[in-house]
Amino acid sequence: MEIQTSHMGLVARVANLSKHYGEGEQRVTALDDLSAGMRRGQFTAIMGPSGSGKSTLMHVMAGLDTPSEGRVWLGDDEISGLGDAALTKLRRRRIGFVFQAFNLVPTLDVRGNILLPFQLAGTPPTAEERERIENLILALGLADRAGHRPHELSGGQQQRVAIARALASGPDIIFADEPTGALDSRTGREVLAILRSAVDSSGQSIAMVTHDPVAASHADRILFLADGRIVADREAMTAEEISSEMLGLEQLQFGAAGARA
Ligand code: ADP
Ligand code: MG
Repeated sequence: MEIQTSHMGLVARVANLSKHYGEGEQRVTALDDLSAGMRRGQFTAIMGPSGSGKSTLMHVMAGLDTPSEGRVWLGDDEISGLGDAALTKLRRRRIGFVFQAFNLVPTLDVRGNILLPFQLAGTPPTAEERERIENLILALGLADRAGHRPHELSGGQQQRVAIARALASGPDIIFADEPTGALDSRTGREVLAILRSAVDSSGQSIAMVTHDPVAASHADRILFLADGRIVADREAMTAEEISSEMLGLEQLQFGAAGARA
């Protein structure tokens, strides 16, 4: 019997994953034979220089994009090879998303945006989910904004709505791509504290792509990418330690480019 993702304490996993874009001379290798797993109940940061493959890895793990080679699992279910309809259904039920640009629907109010994934899935929230949503609205300080539309909210409030929406169904994992990228540093820290507390208080698994060492210092584990590969896999680090690791990586990339020239 094949070893299952859950036996490894993982919530999502990829094996020998490659992703290429384009053909011939234009061909770009975004991910290069990469194997990794996200641990259940942990906050994992994915770091690396611009163009190292962070967003591509997140998109493939979340079923938003398909691998060129290799296998992808969500829990014990292999998702590589699934068709669009099955992937869409799986994303709505089992994955939460938080993006840099918030991605809220402008014509819906706060509660409408939080309920949107249920609407799209055609399955109204259960009693448990309803209670979770009301608790999230309170805990994230959105109670007096519940009837407001996104343009009536600050950036930090909009990102809190996106986080409430991602947490509402109790997904297997939340994928966050630069969630603090559009926020000032104080508001960014509030958002990171909310993500951290979802891990600590309800065991939510989160994978966050970031290039900000301060953001990554909130994580339990940090995967460093360079040129589509994982070059370091570390337990929690301070922002200073992360910065010097990143500096080393950039010098490595620069050095490699210099050697080729
Ligand atoms: P990161 O998020 O770390 O900045 P990406 O995953 O966005 O990196 O990109 C990795 C590499 O793949 C880059 O060289 C990028 O230019 C390339 N790439 C990403 N998406 C596409 C695409 N849709 N078409 C062509 N090349 C792409
Ligand atoms: Mg990116």
